[in-house]
Amino acid sequence: MGVSLGAGVALAHFQSEAELRDSAAKAPASGGPAASAPATAAPTPTRTASPPPKPKAKPKPKRTVKPTPTATAKRPATVPQSGRGTFTTASASGSVTGESGTLRRYRVQVEEGLDLSARETAEEIEAILAHPRSWAAHGRGRFQLVESNADFVIRIATPDTADALCARQGLNTHGELNCETTDGVVVNLKRWMLGSPTFAGPPEEYRHLIINHEVGHEIGIRQHMGCGGPGKLAPAMMQQIKGLNGCRSNAFPYDEDGLYITGPIVS
Ligand SMILES: [Zn+2]
Repeated sequence: MGVSLGAGVALAHFQSEAELRDSAAKAPASGGPAASAPATAAPTPTRTASPPPKPKAKPKPKRTVKPTPTATAKRPATVPQSGRGTFTTASASGSVTGESGTLRRYRVQVEEGLDLSARETAEEIEAILAHPRSWAAHGRGRFQLVESNADFVIRIATPDTADALCARQGLNTHGELNCETTDGVVVNLKRWMLGSPTFAGPPEEYRHLIINHEVGHEIGIRQHMGCGGPGKLAPAMMQQIKGLNGCRSNAFPYDEDGLYITGPIVS
């Protein structure tokens, strides 16, 4: 495996991601973890004295696939800025997801000391890759969660550790963004736990975008896309954190009808 080639590719990818870091860094003004917790005043539900019985429960057409797997992973209340710098490999393995295309085995690592279960995180990532609107369901490759002999690794790391790992590739991630390295993907814990300022859904749904986008690079999609038109769903391979340009934020490569969500190549 040509390491130098891989590094070059990762660098090329990063440089485009780096731009978005600048804009991303502006969003949370203080940069502090607390800054990202939206202070939403909970609307007080008005309770009617005697709620009329609703005999007809509308059978909702179960056409829409729930975007998020059951998020059972324990979540830290706040995102620590730094950690031990060492990782726990999830002791979890699964069956092959997908029916065609190259099989890529991945393992999941979580920085030690975090209140985040490596195993549950791995299972969540496995569910993301098995989602009907993700790559595997559309013949874009097969994936398998393994504990060893992986083709690539997905690491969840605190901002400082993510920066350190990315810096080894010559990349400056400013404590804000994810990066690709020669052996896989480094996911910034801050993005994993808090989502993104431009993303409309909850962090659990944003995690689909993180994985779909980065694994999109892993399966060979090197270029980013722009918005395909006002009101359209933003492509998974768009750098949505950088701005939606009229699109609606979206975590999935494919829409509910199975069509690939695309846009003009921008980089
Ligand atoms: Zn990218």
